[in-house]
Formats: sequence, C-alpha cells, structure tokens
Amino acid sequence: MSDRTASQLAALERSAALHDQVLADPRRFRVLTGDRPTGPLHIGHYLGTLANRVRLQNLGVEVMVLVADYQVMTDQRAGHRLAATVRGVVADYLAAGIDPDRATIFTHSAVPSLNELVLPFLSLVSDAELHRNPTVKAETEATGHPPTGLMLTYPVHQAADILFCHANLVPVGLDQLPHLETTRLIARRFNERYSTQEELFPEPDALLTETPMLAGLDGLKMSKTRGNGIALRATEDETAAMIRRAPTDSERRITYDPLARPAVANFLDLLAATTGADPHRLADEIGNDGAGRLKTMLTEAVNELLRPLRQRRAGLADDHSYLESVLDIGNDRARQIADHTLMTVHDRLGMTYANRRDSRRPRSAATKALSVTA
Ligand code: ATP
Ligand code: MG
Repeated sequence: MSDRTASQLAALERSAALHDQVLADPRRFRVLTGDRPTGPLHIGHYLGTLANRVRLQNLGVEVMVLVADYQVMTDQRAGHRLAATVRGVVADYLAAGIDPDRATIFTHSAVPSLNELVLPFLSLVSDAELHRNPTVKAETEATGHPPTGLMLTYPVHQAADILFCHANLVPVGLDQLPHLETTRLIARRFNERYSTQEELFPEPDALLTETPMLAGLDGLKMSKTRGNGIALRATEDETAAMIRRAPTDSERRITYDPLARPAVANFLDLLAATTGADPHRLADEIGNDGAGRLKTMLTEAVNELLRPLRQRRAGLADDHSYLESVLDIGNDRARQIADHTLMTVHDRLGMTYANRRDSRRPRSAATKALSVTA
C-alpha cells in the first residue's frame, strides 16, 4: 500500500492540515459522505471513512450521510434485496456511532432535486474527462462489461451529492480522489459561468484517514462487491473462519516484505491498521510462530475493534420501523436543502419563469386540481 502517486501524497498532507483546521473551528465545515448500498459495510469503510465521520460529528461538524441507492445500478441491478441492504447500511451507521439527532442520513431516491442537479452539471464536463477517470476505469474492469452511462457519469452524480448541500469536506477513501476532483471542477466551472454575484458552490476537500485504502483478504482493495472484506456485522466466528481460509505462504518465519511476500505483508498491514502498531514490529514479534499466530492475532484484533459496534448493531438491526424512521427524517431534511439549492441553480441558469420545484411555494389552483384528480 506504499506506492502512492504524487497527488495521493498531496491529498494525505492536505488532510493532515484539514484535521487541524477542523479541531480549531468545527462549525466552518459541512461534511457529506456516503456509501453504495451494494452490501454490508466492512472494516475498510470503518477505518477509511466511517470512524472519521463519527469523530467529526462528535467534534460538532454538521454531517450528512448518503445511502447512494441510485448508484447501485451503475454496475448491477437494483432488486428485491435493496430495501434490506439499505436498512442494513443504516444499522451499520448507527452502530458505528452516527447519531441521527445530529447527522442527516438519507437516500438518493427520496431527494429528486438532488438528482436533477446532474443535468446542468453534465453540461460542465466533457466526454473525454469522464472517460479519463481511473476509478471508473477500475470499477468497470471489475465488472467485466463496458461501462453503463450511469457508471461513466458516476462522478457527476457524486458532484450533485456533495454540492446540493454545499459540503466543503468529504471523508473518503483513496479511490474517491478522482471523483472529488470532478466535483471540484464542476463547482469551479459552475461558479465561473453562472456567478455574476457571489460564487454558489464551495470546492470541497477530501479528508483521508491514516488507512485511506485497506486491502481485503485477497490483497485487492477491500470492497463490498468483491466479497473480500470483513463485514462489520459478521460474527466473531465468521470473522475467524474468513481469516483462517485466506491464503498466506509456506515460509514459517514471518517477515514484512510487500514485494516478495505480498500475502503475509497484507495480513500484517491489516493487523497494523486494526491495532495502530507498525507492521515491521508486528512481524518481529511473531517471528517463528508462523502464519497461524498471525491469523489468530488478526482475528482477535478485528473482533476486539468491532465488538462494541456489533453489540450495538444487534440491538437495532431488526427494528425496521426505527431504521426507516431515521431515513424518513433525514430524507425530509435533505429534500428541503436540495429544493432550495435547485431553485438557486435555476435562478442562475435563468430558469425563472415556471415549473420551479420548491416545496415551500404556494401551488396554483390548477396544479392543486390536477393533483387531486391524478
Ligand atoms: P462497492 O464494491 O459497491 O463499490 P465499496 O466497498 O468500494 O463498495 P463504496 O460504497 O464504493 O464501498 O465506498 C464508500 C466509501 O468507503 C468511500 O468513501 C470509499 O472511498 C470508502 N472505502 C471503500 N472501500 C475502502 C477501503 N478498502 N479502504 C478505505 N476506504 C474504503
Ligand atoms: Mg466502491
């Protein structure tokens, strides 16, 4: 995990500075982050962004968390399992410490004005810029199919997710940096083209953690759809079994050598990420006790880290009506913000004549009559 590009290193440095700024003045920031409800969240999410969201919320930053349900369809069909997956992700958030009284948890599908922002934003990026995005390329390769239109425009949709609420801070993993660049580009171009007075959108910053890209048990990026992750909601036994099954190598002595022994190094990286210890030191500590000891230590570390979260989750995962009420409240709030932003965008675009969606405006007698007869 050490082959970082110059722009990734710059983003890590910028994140360290941002952490300090947040500590000094948390109220200057509004956070938007989210996850695709393609499966249960894993420890990559927890260490890469979720624990950071909770920390920011507890510092007094306003936090908006999006369950990006429309983005499930970038590379797979939404289906009958979607409702259960969405509830499961909400349960993961609450169990991790997102507090619905302070944070706003919402879904794309309940906030039409957010999605409508995609249209003007699409006019601000070129076809070539969309095709150049390395994360879109990697995710397309992973599916083995040509990209859908939604996959290709995923970064534009993400710009709408972030800019609808004027978020200026986005806690994400490393894979999201190219997408965030697109958001910054769209904000900048919108401001240049449509701001005679004050600029409408901030150019948001990514906030990375010290674990900006956790690899899964197979050494590739831990990811819901690859099935190579340890789910937050897995039991201790399931966690142990998953780790036991993952391949290492046959050499008894444990050393940290990512090039020559990638599988062992990956286990040591995972152990380092969950314990905060240095991977070289961990290798020395295990020495001739071999891969068995390494796996036992990793199992214990993961189970210990997740034990309180899993206990909280067990208490709320079956309470469907509570989980849905959390979304109802969040969706209402997100809708109000999105309606207002879209109205402002329409103003800037000169669309000031009719058909503006603003839930606070009185409707005409004709519209009222239509909605009664429809
Ligand atoms: P999918 O396979 O459906 O794309 P995913 O596991 O990649 O799922 P996302 O919903 O795409 O998860 O990502 C949600 C957030 O979690 C993003 O901010 C992303 O950067 C972060 N994230 C995902 N996987 C990791 C990881 N392995 N390490 C660190 N952060 C991660
Ligand atoms: Mg992903």
